[in-house]
Amino acid sequence: MRVGIVLFTRDLRVHDNPALAAACEECERVVPLFVLDEAVLVRFGAPNRVAFLLESLRDLDRSLRARGGALVVRRGDVVGEVAAVGADAVYLAEDVSSYARRREGALRTARLDVRVSPGVTVIPPGQLRPSGGGDHFSVFTPYWRRWREAPRRALLHPPGAVRLPEGIEPGFIPEPDVAELSRQVPRGGEAEGRARLEAWLASGLGAYGSGRDVLAEDATSRLSPYLRFGCISPLEAVERAVGLPGGEEFVRQLCWRDFHYQLFAARPELSWEDMRPRGDRWRDDELALEAWKEGLTGYPLVDAGMRQLRAEGFMHNRARLATASFLTKHLYVDWRVGGAHFADLLVDGDIPNNLGNWQWVAGTGADTRPNRMFNPTRQAQRYDPRGDYVRRWVPELAGIEGAAVHEPWRLGLLAAPEYPTPIVDHDEAVARFRTARALS
Ligand code: FAD
Repeated sequence: MRVGIVLFTRDLRVHDNPALAAACEECERVVPLFVLDEAVLVRFGAPNRVAFLLESLRDLDRSLRARGGALVVRRGDVVGEVAAVGADAVYLAEDVSSYARRREGALRTARLDVRVSPGVTVIPPGQLRPSGGGDHFSVFTPYWRRWREAPRRALLHPPGAVRLPEGIEPGFIPEPDVAELSRQVPRGGEAEGRARLEAWLASGLGAYGSGRDVLAEDATSRLSPYLRFGCISPLEAVERAVGLPGGEEFVRQLCWRDFHYQLFAARPELSWEDMRPRGDRWRDDELALEAWKEGLTGYPLVDAGMRQLRAEGFMHNRARLATASFLTKHLYVDWRVGGAHFADLLVDGDIPNNLGNWQWVAGTGADTRPNRMFNPTRQAQRYDPRGDYVRRWVPELAGIEGAAVHEPWRLGLLAAPEYPTPIVDHDEAVARFRTARALS
């Protein structure tokens, strides 16, 4: 009797899961396994993400039990635990991080029969290559043109039944440490992710093109944590959105996700190295960094974004752009420092999307206009024209009506006595940035 292990990693779903589908088709008995790897949980395990992960595991367990199986949970070293369970083959989803590659290599070295399937991205990293040569795209638009025309695999149904080997002990899923969580982290799991996808397609997507940049409307899908942990299939999100009003814009954003994965798959060193190195040096400024992290820079849009991040483990994309630009271009602090803070809090935080975007904003990455600098006040006036987003997150400014909230320094000290004055003058920051880049 053939036994297969499905090693779940960041594909925590039963719908459209190629690794699970292959194991159920090729093996009489299947062990759906998740290994809580202490090394990863301690090193990369931000509390918000760990809580989301544990909830997603519980949901996956329910879905597997409904099919006659269960999620088998172990703690420790992945290769050791896989070997201890024992099977004829190990099925898992292809992933791009250095850790994921080491894990796959170690499984092979342990003489396990490893079967790797797609599923983390829409188009597997490495499948599309630029016509001019090279093994990856370093600019988004040509990638998008090729990506949208590329053939996509068919969506897979969830397995009808999952049959465990006799006598296997499922193990246990721990509870998260709620003391360390942001106030409003979303509920994890495939059931929740699918419900949100349905609701989004039915009533959010249509207005995505016009509303996605309006900060106060919160008119984006908020599917990123579910995509991050594979609670929903990115391919299913694309297939279901294509052809619907708003679908083109939404699918383009999902292509950005694939773009970063193929970039980091080809160049894993981008997690720590500049993609386009510059000759100058970043500044160390602990006080400014602390003010940025706490949302006390005196720039209302930046502060609103940073406080949303702390409260929700999420930040609107427009605010991510403004806050990251402020740190790297106004304060001239290293993108790695900002990326690490985002990684500590974001529920959707992952290496390619977090650091790929940070490099893009810092002007060291894939942006074809690396020296552009966002003016936080103009951004606020444009994307939060009535000031509602800022008032939602910065209570010290709640008494200031309309767009005047974006420039409290114009109103005199009594307008918002609790709110700080700007930690850096915009014009001086622009001049410093231009000088640094001109010299580099
Ligand atoms: P929607 O607008 O509904 O977009 C749908 C999906 O498309 C998202 O869920 C996401 O999977 C993908 N997507 C959208 N924009 C991008 C983008 N610019 N790059 C890659 N994928 C995108 N996204 C992450 O998933 N993880 C991160 O760690 C992350 N860090 C970021 C850091 C910075 C500095 C910036 C500027 C952006 C970052 N993003 C990251 C991208 C983007 O901000 C989020 O994906 C988006 O805000 C999630 O909200 P949503 O699901 O409502 O997005």
